[in-house]
Amino acid sequence: MAHVAIVTGGTRGIGEAISLMLQRDGFTVVANYAGNDAKAKAFSDKTGIPAYRWDVGDHQATLDNCARISEEVGPVDVVVNNAGITRDGTLHKMSFDDWNEVMRINLGGCFNMAKACFPGMRERGWGRIVNIGSINGQAGQYGQVNYAAAKSGIHGFTKALAQEGAKFGVTVNAIAPGYIDTDMVAAVPPPVLEKIVAKIPVGRLGHANEIARGVAFFVSEDGGFVTGSTLSINGGQHMY
Ligand code: NDP
Repeated sequence: MAHVAIVTGGTRGIGEAISLMLQRDGFTVVANYAGNDAKAKAFSDKTGIPAYRWDVGDHQATLDNCARISEEVGPVDVVVNNAGITRDGTLHKMSFDDWNEVMRINLGGCFNMAKACFPGMRERGWGRIVNIGSINGQAGQYGQVNYAAAKSGIHGFTKALAQEGAKFGVTVNAIAPGYIDTDMVAAVPPPVLEKIVAKIPVGRLGHANEIARGVAFFVSEDGGFVTGSTLSINGGQHMY
């Protein structure tokens, strides 16, 4: 039977590409999203992938929805923690809410999803968790103390949980994307984006499919010997 995979933030951007690639690879995919119902409906109509709306930063909502998905679709063997937001600003302008919201969703979302799905994977002796970090969690970024801290936290979270999952057949890995052509990057002012692209050795933004391909490897049967690893997919911008 096909493994059930949940992709958080799986209805657009990088998450949409991940959902489609896992579906193509034979997984039974379920996408989560936060609030963009129109996009989620168009995505589900086009792909046949069901989309469940909840905030991954909400602990109880995450537990409830993952339990519901287990009942309605099947036990969850694969989690891709992709949902993420930005609330950029230099420290002196950043509010506590801006800090907290990014930590709550980007990092807290990984904890909440693991609390909901890791115990079942452990019991069944097979599982795959992939967390989407960021180049800015590895290298830092001006105006992003919240985002860089949360993404850096994801890389530590990955290595710690990988140690707990290893003897139960559960791998936990991360991908650190560079700048990828999605709505998130479209929000960066054009002059800033031009300067960013100039620093990418391959000379362009990445495509969402190029991240999805990395996820597909981590969740495959052949990926079972890789755990606690971070794959940088960034056009050579940061060689870690
Ligand atoms: P987008 O902004 O294009 O899409 C974000 C997705 O996450 C949407 O599906 C959104 O749902 C969902 N989402 C946001 N908040 C929540 C929440 N609280 N609960 C559930 N779902 C939520 O992002 P990208 O595709 O660009 O980025 C995907 C991931 O990759 C993020 O973690 C991001 O930090 C990371 N990343 C992106 C890079 C880039 O260059 N784009 C670079 C490095 C990392 P809805 O549609 O309902 O709003």
